[in-house]
Formats: sequence, structure tokens, C-alpha cells
Amino acid sequence: MDKLVLFDIDRTLIKCLKGHIPAFSEAFKRVYNVDTTINIINSHGMTDQEIIIKVLKKNGLSEDEIKSKIDKCMEVMVEFMSFNKTIDNDEIAVLEGVRELLKELDKYNILMGLVTGNLEPIAKIKLKKVNLYHYFKVGGFGSDDIKRANLVKIAIKRAKEKFSFKQNNNVFLFGDTPLDMKAGKEAGVKTVGVTTGIYSKEQLKNTDANFILESLKDTNKILEIIQGKI
Ligand SMILES: [Mg+2]
Repeated sequence: MDKLVLFDIDRTLIKCLKGHIPAFSEAFKRVYNVDTTINIINSHGMTDQEIIIKVLKKNGLSEDEIKSKIDKCMEVMVEFMSFNKTIDNDEIAVLEGVRELLKELDKYNILMGLVTGNLEPIAKIKLKKVNLYHYFKVGGFGSDDIKRANLVKIAIKRAKEKFSFKQNNNVFLFGDTPLDMKAGKEAGVKTVGVTTGIYSKEQLKNTDANFILESLKDTNKILEIIQGKI
């Protein structure tokens, strides 16, 4: 396996109507006694731990207070997602071209992984619901670290350990936000921005993304990018 292709989840592979927004609210209430929602900030591209801190700070909590209970907060979120059928009742759309692309990359024996701010169990619940989880052999998740660039590095480290992957300018990160592009750049991988989120081509261009696509629909072009032909 001489390539590693890493994907963000939300608005890169899938789009959820609610996602794990209710899980945050539930955990804020139960762990911090705060009635709030993540909709008070722009959380696009942030890791779950960053979201927790930012939302609660806006509600007047100190960083120390937030961090002292952050593990419990994540635990409650996962529990809520696992037992409350939140995802069963949610609408999840697989974005255009995604199924075909993953199938094709798999055929070429390309190692695929996830880099997502989602906590690992929540990422799993979402992708299992749409039957995509089995494609991803490694990952860096919001439960691993607060900083997105570290999630990229963790995913690569796991690919090295599990599959003897050798990193040599051959890692690609797909994502829909400037924060994805920034994390990829910081981790030293090639970045591919997709405009299936809330950000435009121009906004992603300003982040020095190596490539920008409107969607993951053009499988041939993506293969060319990964194979270094363009
Ligand atoms: Mg995203």
C-alpha cells in the first residue's frame, strides 16, 4: 500500500440533518448544567473537544472548569448517541460520488482512513448507518486529540504501525473546511478541498489547498490526483 487517502466525514462524505448536535446539548446539560447548543458558534471543521470548549466558554465557564469534566462530557455524548437511537431517527445523506469513489479506491488497494473531529464511536455510528465504515482501516478522531493537525499525524502513525505504510509525500487529505486544509498543511500532507460544505472555492483557495473540487464525483480526476498525474 503506497498511498494513504484520509477523509473528513461531515460534509465531505456525508451530510446529517442533525448529526450529533443533540448529543452535545444533552452532555452540556448533564455534565455542566448548562442549557445550550453548538449552533451558537460556527463549528465547521472544529474538533469535538474544541467545540465543547468554545460553546461553554461562550456560556461563561472557565477553561479549567470545562477541561476538568471534558472526558465525562465526551462519555455522555457517546452514550447518548449509542442508546438514544439519535442516528436511527436522523437523515444521513451520502454525498454525490462518495460510494463510487470509495469502491474504486478500494479496488486499487489504496489505504483509506478518517480524519474527523467526531469522537471515534460517533464517527463509527454515523458511517455504519450508511454502510461506509468498512472502507476505513485507520483514523484520527476527535477523541484522540483536541488539535486537528494532530489527528492527521495520528492517522498516519496508525497506518505505519498497522500496515507498514511508508510516508513519502503520498498522503492525501480530503475535507470541506479551511480548518481541514490548515491541519493537512501543518501535518505535511497534500490537501484536497471539496466545496460540499459551507465554504466556497475561493475560501478554500485562500488556505493553499493543493487541489479544489466541487464534489467527490469525478473519480477519474481524483485517481489522477492520488497517482500524481496532475
Ligand atoms: Mg467537514
